[in-house]
Amino acid sequence: MTYRGRFAPSPTGPLHFGSLVSALASWLDARAQCGAWLVRVEDIDGPRTVPGAAEDILATLERFGMRADEAPVWQSQRIARYQQALEQLKSTGLVYPCGCTRKEIADSLLNAHARNTTLAYPGTCRKGLHGKPARAWRLRVPDGDAAVITFDDRWQGPQTQNLATEVGDFVLRRADDQWAYQLAVVVDDADAGITHIVRGADLMDSTARQIYLQRCLGVATPAYLHVPVVTNEHGEKLSKQNGATALDSDKPLEALGAAARHLGLELGSEPPATLEQFYSVATAAWAKRMNLRASA
Ligand code: GLU
Repeated sequence: MTYRGRFAPSPTGPLHFGSLVSALASWLDARAQCGAWLVRVEDIDGPRTVPGAAEDILATLERFGMRADEAPVWQSQRIARYQQALEQLKSTGLVYPCGCTRKEIADSLLNAHARNTTLAYPGTCRKGLHGKPARAWRLRVPDGDAAVITFDDRWQGPQTQNLATEVGDFVLRRADDQWAYQLAVVVDDADAGITHIVRGADLMDSTARQIYLQRCLGVATPAYLHVPVVTNEHGEKLSKQNGATALDSDKPLEALGAAARHLGLELGSEPPATLEQFYSVATAAWAKRMNLRASA
């Protein structure tokens, strides 16, 4: 198998330290396995996309010495593929239109909470819209044992999620006419032939949904590795939304060294003088760390 990995930033602001950690981990994993590393700009979430942020992220990756092996893919140019995937799922009867408003769902979840039952979407529209206009499209998740998705995360170990009780039928096409991240990411990774996904652990919770979606669409499931997220002083995930500052692109070695330390990589006592030196030492350290895990 030829390794194909990727980094998939959402252009909601400039690259910050948290996203640098994900970029670096995916880059080192691809390099350590002599694979291809691709970049995909996840710019379909219209309301969250900041003009110019994608170009800024691509330029920062370049300045930090992470060069993609193929031209970047832009999700905004792949809408027809998401529509095709939705049609494919419609033809199998696995998706249905949903007319619930956020408030209706929140109210039913509050009731469920009061009754101590599941907090998953209760499947209100499974049997029809009951006269309500269609707002979103949802994917039906299986009941019983079939709802349990397990996978082995290369960093975090064995994972299990029950889609029926923990998630419920999930949205593929949103009420605000946007494509849901879950659908886009699965279609894009499959079309790009991605074999290994390396990303932040905040996305761990989405992985079971994505594996189920891969099965529904009849595409391969890649290997997964979720690296620990970077948190701020309040213990919140560092994100563009909570004010993470842009990286100082004049000092790539400093930021890369800190990102490598966050990943627990031993870089030796001599600080690297060039980007080439840094990547060579960091790739060896990553390979060592992953091999140790693999043989543990
Ligand atoms: N675009 C997502 C983010 O920036 C990452 C998606 C992924 O790696 O699957 O959080």
